[in-house]
Amino acid sequence: MSEENQKPKMESEIMKKYFDNIYDSVKFEYDIANRARKKGFDPEDRVDSPLAANMIERVEGLISAVAPQLIGSGASERMFELEDEFGVLDWRVSLVIAEEIAKQKFCKFETELEAIEVGIRTGFAYHTLGIVSAPLEGFTNIEIKNRRDGKKYFAINFAGPIRGAGGTGASVCVLIADYVRKKMGYEKYDPDDNESKRYDTELNDYHDRVTNLQYHPSSDEIVFLGSHLPIEVAGDPSEKIEVSNQKDLPRIKTNKIRGGMCLVFSMIALKAPKLWKRLEKWGDDFDMDWMWLGDFIKLQKKKKAGGSKKSDDGAEKPKITPNKTFIADLVAGRPVLTYPMAYGGLRLRYGRGRTTGFSSAAVHPCTMFLLDDFFAIGTQMKVERPGKAATLNVCDELEGPVVKLTNGKVLRVNKIEEAKEIAKEVDRILFLGDILLNYGDFSENGHVLVPPGYCEEWWMRELEKIISDKEGSFNFENLKKNLNVDDNILKDIIDNCKRNKPNFKDALEISNKLNISLHPEHLFFYKGVSKEDLLVFLDFLERSEIEKQNNFIEKIVMPASNEVSTFLEKIGIPHTVASNEFAVIDGDYATSLYYTLGLSKNSIEDVISKITSMGETDILEVINKLSPFNVRDKCGTFIGARMGRPEKVKMRTMKGNPHSLFALGPEGGRMKSFQSALELNKATAQYALYYCDDCKQETILSVCEDCGKKTKEKYHCRLCGLLDDKKCQHNKENRRFKKKQIDFPKYFKKSLKKLNTS
Ligand SMILES: [Zn+2]
Ligand SMILES: [Zn+2]
Repeated sequence: MSEENQKPKMESEIMKKYFDNIYDSVKFEYDIANRARKKGFDPEDRVDSPLAANMIERVEGLISAVAPQLIGSGASERMFELEDEFGVLDWRVSLVIAEEIAKQKFCKFETELEAIEVGIRTGFAYHTLGIVSAPLEGFTNIEIKNRRDGKKYFAINFAGPIRGAGGTGASVCVLIADYVRKKMGYEKYDPDDNESKRYDTELNDYHDRVTNLQYHPSSDEIVFLGSHLPIEVAGDPSEKIEVSNQKDLPRIKTNKIRGGMCLVFSMIALKAPKLWKRLEKWGDDFDMDWMWLGDFIKLQKKKKAGGSKKSDDGAEKPKITPNKTFIADLVAGRPVLTYPMAYGGLRLRYGRGRTTGFSSAAVHPCTMFLLDDFFAIGTQMKVERPGKAATLNVCDELEGPVVKLTNGKVLRVNKIEEAKEIAKEVDRILFLGDILLNYGDFSENGHVLVPPGYCEEWWMRELEKIISDKEGSFNFENLKKNLNVDDNILKDIIDNCKRNKPNFKDALEISNKLNISLHPEHLFFYKGVSKEDLLVFLDFLERSEIEKQNNFIEKIVMPASNEVSTFLEKIGIPHTVASNEFAVIDGDYATSLYYTLGLSKNSIEDVISKITSMGETDILEVINKLSPFNVRDKCGTFIGARMGRPEKVKMRTMKGNPHSLFALGPEGGRMKSFQSALELNKATAQYALYYCDDCKQETILSVCEDCGKKTKEKYHCRLCGLLDDKKCQHNKENRRFKKKQIDFPKYFKKSLKKLNTS
């Protein structure tokens, strides 16, 4: 590719300048490094990692380590074409390029098997953006094995570095391999009972005896998956321990635990919903043997809901059930913030802040502060949904926590100054406040969208729609003419509905005139109480003192009984407790509650008899029958969360301060220091083999330390000794190095001399 083409294309002049500047600086550094390499003191005389202008070039560069013939073969041009057809990073690009390389459309390979492997590696590298070594080292190889009917199937072997690809990456690699299998005319894997049970035994053994799996599928899930996978997932043994059962199976070559297999297998189970989301769409068109995955997900959902037997086979929408996965493997020292779907936990709010994005969520700064800053910016959290983890950030446009103080007062905390003031008096956090998650995380994880609580931005969209339907378009003028609300207040709300909220009087006016649900600021968490709780509460309300001013409530003074306090805390309504005797709700909070319960038009007695005669049991339905405006659910979905692995976040330093890399062997001592090797006058390690023809001596350097001339690369055979050639009669490929003792002080002194420091 020419230099001009390598520069990314930019629209704006400023951006172009910015990227040109980066490109020029990088090129400048590369030139220096290349000039240094040209001197020949390093094993290679050029900078090893080529500059790739785009992802596809990087993929090609990575795979060229095992298949140099791929460069310039047309494979990368084909990937660009496929991107045009399917979209950038679409999984189908990986599938098709893998198939075409396997069919040797771009270049020839020594064997069909090699072509198949390079194809899979390329597709896999494309999926992982060419930035991890997993396509070369994590996916080890393909073995072609015999089915019981004598036909052939694929076994795909994995090793530890597969981790680098992530769960989805590893699963996609299996998909790619299986697609290539089918296109190359191989049959499906035909596991028997013992073979699919072996997966179960081995995953359990790995989880219990080696290390925790990130996701530990249930036995039913494993056996189902194991008996349906059209390709055998396998690997080399990584542990010394043997599996506890299902040993000596003829088609499984080892009894030892295979870590790579366990990782990949469990990841397929974890990522099944994400795989299914794609396969459901185009799996049939691509002739994939994976269409059973939908049934697997049904089974998995049943298991995840804690094994509850209730099926949702009916036509109803799938019910959202608590998902315990994120706390299943809890280790001491990882605080649980909130249990799965626990009432008062983190309330889902959809959206993106400036500081959030992919797998990055936000909470209100007061939430962090009131949790003693235990959860801070950057904390890794395990969350109940949509994905497995999220990095934490802050957003002050969310709702903060609702807390109860030691004196009984309940309040919403939305200002950090306020949070600091009351922090020492907090008795309990009743509601943790919002968690901001974006749609993309749900989409990316194949999770259905779950209902959020009624919130300002939702209310705003409805307001816009009502005005547009009525007036043709939404703007300040059109809104203003419908309402008797101060201009500045309306302008503020339009400007930023999340920060600027109407008081109850204005909210009531807007709801009355435009028939829109009550503004979320004046909503409480009614879902936390039952119809019976409400009746008990009203009974107490009848015995309370209610101070009115026109149509608005100044104060409700209630007896502070257990029932009343619990009710008020459950719905999260701010109030105070006076001398342990009275619960006092005032201002807008009191007025909103009063109107919501229909008390602006009916006596408490009437409301009680109305409720008693109602057939409805759902609290929101009950309230909506009483209230003059529509009352929505503020709770939505509470999301469980715990801390991830805080101890992982730390500086990692090596003992000692290494200045350079040079193999010293045991002579380097504990600190691997030159001094030790110098004192012992030698070093013993594996060194490269070079020979200087002029000085007639072996050396470990590519430039002779005595005469300064380039030396010759040599090979070593245990029987022939030093060789000019890679091949000898004993070995196809002899090594370029050998373990030997060197006169270390000599090399050291010569090097110092070269640096003019001796
Ligand atoms: Zn020499
Ligand atoms: Zn030999």
